Amino acid sequence: MTTIIDGGHGIQLHVEEGELRRRCGDCQLCCKLVPVANLGKPAGQRCKYQRVGKGCTVHARLATISNACLMWNCRWLVQNDTADLRRPDRSHYVLDVMPDYITIRNNETGTAEYVEVVQIWVDPNYPEAHRDPALRAYIERRSHEGVAVLIRWDNTKGMVIFAPAMSGDREWHEVTQALSSEQHSMADVAKALGAA
Ligand code: SF4
Ligand code: SF4
Repeated sequence: MTTIIDGGHGIQLHVEEGELRRRCGDCQLCCKLVPVANLGKPAGQRCKYQRVGKGCTVHARLATISNACLMWNCRWLVQNDTADLRRPDRSHYVLDVMPDYITIRNNETGTAEYVEVVQIWVDPNYPEAHRDPALRAYIERRSHEGVAVLIRWDNTKGMVIFAPAMSGDREWHEVTQALSSEQHSMADVAKALGAA
């Protein structure tokens, strides 16, 4: 049986019975942590339309004000492989549903390798939230699919985490150097990961 649930930004999700029992509830963390380019809203800063306890004050007009918000939900809400994570307002991080990639350049050979990443927006008030053991287990699971994670605290500060399965020495690696904040379009992502 198919059920329709409120996805949190006005979007309605059609799910099969038994799937996706999660709900946004009082969580509004994505409206603080995730950047929204068309609103000029940077990462890590509350959206001007968000009110504590009320949520999005332009919910009914989102299609005209910010269509991007209608299209977006976090991975905790809509994906089955995040079932063991806590709700984002309790864990203090938001897993972006949009796939992205990083470029690893070999300075000796000049070659570039594209690695798929899940972007995780971490609340700047809880900068160490990415050390949550449940999140580390998720990162480890994804590493077996060749996927790393990109931790983002704001528009410019970030760190890539490689789980042991993605490292030659089979250790965890956190890489904070030489990150650029360049944004990738979906066409960029498809091209890079299609060619990877
Ligand atoms: S972070 Fe996820 S659970 Fe929280 S309000 Fe946004 S979509 Fe809903
Ligand atoms: S417009 Fe509404 S849904 Fe979009 S970020 Fe702002 S408060 Fe959240």
